[in-house]
Amino acid sequence: MVKQNTAKIAYRFGDGVYLNITNRCPNLCAFCIKTKWHMDFHGNNLNLEGLEPTAGEVVAALEEELKKAPFKEVVFCGYGEPTMRLETLLFVAQTLKGWMAQAKYPPFKIRLNTNGLGNLINRKDIVPELRRVVDVVNISLNAENETVWRSIVRPAEGYENGYESVRAFIRACVAAGFEKVVVSCVDQTGADNQAVEKIASQDGAQFYLRSFLDAQN
Ligand code: SF4
Repeated sequence: MVKQNTAKIAYRFGDGVYLNITNRCPNLCAFCIKTKWHMDFHGNNLNLEGLEPTAGEVVAALEEELKKAPFKEVVFCGYGEPTMRLETLLFVAQTLKGWMAQAKYPPFKIRLNTNGLGNLINRKDIVPELRRVVDVVNISLNAENETVWRSIVRPAEGYENGYESVRAFIRACVAAGFEKVVVSCVDQTGADNQAVEKIASQDGAQFYLRSFLDAQN
């Protein structure tokens, strides 16, 4: 019998429709809610159980969700790092741009939430391809230097020196001219939030302090 997956591929949060295209991630952040919340996000099961949706399945789930109610943005998010599935991300975002051009829906933004390791993951500069189809990039930096970064995001083997790559990714996104580039830091992890804010400013990005999430409410 073919295994049935009940995970949500597209789900609502605030004014956005969020896309869950992978659960894979090269980090194991100390603050990550995916294990703490047992792969549930406010009643949405995001556990793909290794059965990642095809690009066509993502588009179908997205269309279904977009029809239901107004939205202001579509967000590639997870529980997982979306650039692990770059081709799928680009295909879906390109489809969204096509819908925008046809005015199929009222104006909206396309946002990528990322850990900033996409260039290392894909072993190439992914910024030009992203720039063509994504409007806003939110990058989780979470630390003021590599030592703190390693202790908080706990990168997998091969990504231990990723901090400078994340910094370079931030600067490349700013230089590429996305509508908005936001660098975030999670509160109460031991990182120096003010130092991270200063780094974001030096790199030309906006800053967002994310609340540390514990129990779901
Ligand atoms: S980068 Fe995001 S998905 Fe990956 S472990 Fe950290 S919080 Fe979780």
